[in-house]
Amino acid sequence: MMWYRPDGFTLGGNGRAHLKVDGLAAGYGPVQVLRGLRFEARPGLTVILGPNGAGKTTLLRALAGLIPRGGEVLLDGEELPEKTHEIVRAGMALVAEGRQLFPQMTVSENLELGGWLAPKAERERRLVQVLQDFPKLRERATQLAGTMSGGEQQMVAVARAMMSAPRLLMLDEPSLGLAPRMVDELLAMARRIADAGTTVLMVEQNVKKALAVADRGYVLERGALVASGPARLLSRSTVVREAYLGAQAQDTTSAADAARRGRTQASPTAAAAATIVAPS
Ligand code: ATP
Repeated sequence: MMWYRPDGFTLGGNGRAHLKVDGLAAGYGPVQVLRGLRFEARPGLTVILGPNGAGKTTLLRALAGLIPRGGEVLLDGEELPEKTHEIVRAGMALVAEGRQLFPQMTVSENLELGGWLAPKAERERRLVQVLQDFPKLRERATQLAGTMSGGEQQMVAVARAMMSAPRLLMLDEPSLGLAPRMVDELLAMARRIADAGTTVLMVEQNVKKALAVADRGYVLERGALVASGPARLLSRSTVVREAYLGAQAQDTTSAADAARRGRTQASPTAAAAATIVAPS
């Protein structure tokens, strides 16, 4: 049995949430990590790819209000608030890298925390719904979260985020450290959540599998976006294939390098497939 209901989710958005970001800047104290990012998460599933340290987690943390941000962020045309609880209220939820569950609390206690902004009656209604959406969690409702496997904990973290009934769900490397079968199930679940109406913005290192479930993708390197396009085309582009999918045994270290070469090699699949944003 799957961890989630294959026929959809009852909690979440109506399929129209659209995030538009322009000039996003963020960092840690004097260290600026992101510089002037422009991108959007349209209804469906958008994935942000990139190597370690590129700034992917920083991007999601900035959008979730966990660190200060600069630039314009519009959710359905309305400026996104800056404080985390206001962002959650506006309809955006983050499943952070590493899940951040409370290990000494039960599954249902962890889930209830996801509905912290809702009044008690609404929270209880959502708990019933989320346990319908994630039937395997119903069987585990009284288990301590810390005693679950990595994949099971990831499911709890996603279900907890759905307790805020988000219009837009951000997932930070949901497949990190999981066995291949669990990776497939997590990514299929992200797809289902998007299909059921919650816009999904996902950061992933598992490039091939992430592009297989996504609608659109962006490649982030050293704090800047270097490529973007429909997922189907991005996975065929020279840029992504050389840098992330091991298409050629070259000493490629980045999509930006691959893009520069793509320009000079006139490869038939090069820039035609995806937009090269800024490989200067
Ligand atoms: P990974 O896949 O390894 O998580 P990432 O693309 O998510 O990489 P970030 O975690 O966003 O990258 O890190 C981007 C940069 O910001 C890195 O150089 C990192 O060292 C730095 N950084 C991250 N967190 C902090 C922090 N709390 N204080 C200072 N610098 C930080």
